[in-house]
Amino acid sequence: MAVFITDTCINCGACVDECPVEAIVDEDENPSGQEYHFVHSNKCVECVGHHDVPACATACPTEGCIVWSEVDASPKHRDNISSDARSKKAPIVQD
Ligand code: SF4
Ligand code: SF4
Repeated sequence: MAVFITDTCINCGACVDECPVEAIVDEDENPSGQEYHFVHSNKCVECVGHHDVPACATACPTEGCIVWSEVDASPKHRDNISSDARSKKAPIVQD
């Protein structure tokens, strides 16, 4: 994984155009079969080299539906995110 979209996604689509590597698909293309947006972890670079923080999360109008997740398939990831935050799927943007 890389960053992950949880089931509190409201399918507004705001994240899709913000992603610099086109890693996000909508509910119709979600390969897991869930009816909300999805991040392809093998494409997501956690916005390293593009933005200071993940652009999808700053664009998202919900309270924390985009979270940190494990880095196994991510081509690039942020070294400053704790394994605890990743394992607990901590929200990227917190109030
Ligand atoms: S963190 Fe960046 S690269 Fe990853 S899905 Fe979000 S916008 Fe795309
Ligand atoms: S911006 Fe947030 S609520 Fe909107 S589609 Fe993306 S993850 Fe879902």
